[in-house]
Amino acid sequence: MRYSDTRLYIGGNWCDATGAKTLDVYNPATGEAIGKVAHAVHADLEKAVEAVVSGFHIWSATSAFERYQIMRRAAALLRDRLESIARLLTTDEGKPLAESRLEVNSCADLLDWFAEEGRRAYGRLIPARSTTVQQYGIKEPVGPAVGFTPWNFPMSQIVRKLGPALAAGCSIIIKGPEEAPAAPAQLFQCLHDAGVPAGVVNLVFGTPAEISQFLIPHPAIRKVSFTGSVPVGKQLASLAGLHMKRVTMELGGHAPAIVMDDANIDAATTALVAAKFRNAGQVCIAPTRFLIQAGVHDQFVKSLIKKTQALKVGDGLAEGTQMGPLIGERRRAAIESLIEDAVSKGARIATGGQRIGNSGFFFEPTILTGITTDMRAMNEEPFGPVALVKSFDDLDEAIEESGRLPFGLGSYAWTTSASNARRLVQGVQAGMLTINHVGLGLPETPYGGIRDSGYGYEGGSEALDGYMNTRFITHDVA
Ligand code: NAD
Repeated sequence: MRYSDTRLYIGGNWCDATGAKTLDVYNPATGEAIGKVAHAVHADLEKAVEAVVSGFHIWSATSAFERYQIMRRAAALLRDRLESIARLLTTDEGKPLAESRLEVNSCADLLDWFAEEGRRAYGRLIPARSTTVQQYGIKEPVGPAVGFTPWNFPMSQIVRKLGPALAAGCSIIIKGPEEAPAAPAQLFQCLHDAGVPAGVVNLVFGTPAEISQFLIPHPAIRKVSFTGSVPVGKQLASLAGLHMKRVTMELGGHAPAIVMDDANIDAATTALVAAKFRNAGQVCIAPTRFLIQAGVHDQFVKSLIKKTQALKVGDGLAEGTQMGPLIGERRRAAIESLIEDAVSKGARIATGGQRIGNSGFFFEPTILTGITTDMRAMNEEPFGPVALVKSFDDLDEAIEESGRLPFGLGSYAWTTSASNARRLVQGVQAGMLTINHVGLGLPETPYGGIRDSGYGYEGGSEALDGYMNTRFITHDVA
């Protein structure tokens, strides 16, 4: 599929923004402008709200079984169109084609899962205190929703909001990623072709702050979901709070990866290299603070360096590429600045540390050792291909370090001891912990953070609750 311009999808139609306003879209592997995306203005957002309200009337009155059938059809269409959508995803986001295929597949799996869950959105009958009283809780969709989604997983970040919304019977406006709009547009085309009625799902792009300032307070919108950085999440959650909107926040992380002396080091480094450099490290659950017990530190670092240096970095469309470019110059400059700061405070560059080539936004997969907690990278989310390695002596020290920052999203650990594993489960303050493998993010498992990383879930049966009200009915039938 040729890369083409992306329009807005409102009320079941593709349309240009009022005044034909657009933004340029770039290929991060070349730095070249490759197309345009429509930039919604006020009048377009008004239209989107009108559409999402009428979509809600239709969808909330559609049976859970019919919703399930339509969602399953959309998932099947995604699988049919996988190859062409994956190429679009790589072209504007940069990730290797193999990762794009996984993302498209995961979107189909997520839609299937949420479609099924929608059929199980049970209420409950509650034993009453009188034999003539019937009392029960019923689940109902919360109303029209809005989702703000970032560029790092342009499609799956959308499906993690739109999937539970649709399953619950909500309609939704998605503010998609302006940096990588092409694959999201194809997702909406699949939903359209599968028979999602007009107005139920709507896709807009534009200036994020303008759109959130308009949509979050809008009285028609009942639910807000955002994925992005902690500072922006706090702003949007405050705005939503002011207008009493239901909120899901999936914010940043700074994941610790704790490796004990008793761990299988080969397995740990293989898994951690894959997890760290996936999507060039631009992943909110990417392992970042590599906390390695002193007895295996040198062995771990040696193995980590060897496997990192073997990664093939290049254009995501090229055969065999394992890591693509960063999304843009801003991210690359941010990574450089974090490395510079760490080195000025005594960190050593074990491998990487440099830009690659003269075109695109490539950066070497980087490992820093000799890390101390005063370095900026140990406190700010790097969101790039940098692993920070720090050694520790006993597990309590590692657990304390893991909880030092206000983040609490993903976390990783390797140990063969059941008692160490137990202490990790009890001590690590994170919404998700994966021990001895990388197992986060499946459709059927809870996905979400605690503390500054946000609240609410975008996976598992918990995700549906974010889009539903439980109403209580009590009825004396005597
Ligand atoms: P950024 O803060 O400018 O944007 C991050 C995301 O928030 C983008 O999708 C953007 O459209 C959105 N956004 C920003 N201001 C907004 C507003 N006022 N209203 C609505 N949406 C708004 O940063 P960036 O350079 O694009 O990305 C880097 C940072 O963003 C990272 O440090 C990381 O913390 C965070 N981020 C997190 C995730 C995640 O999966 N949790 C994904 C992408 C970016």
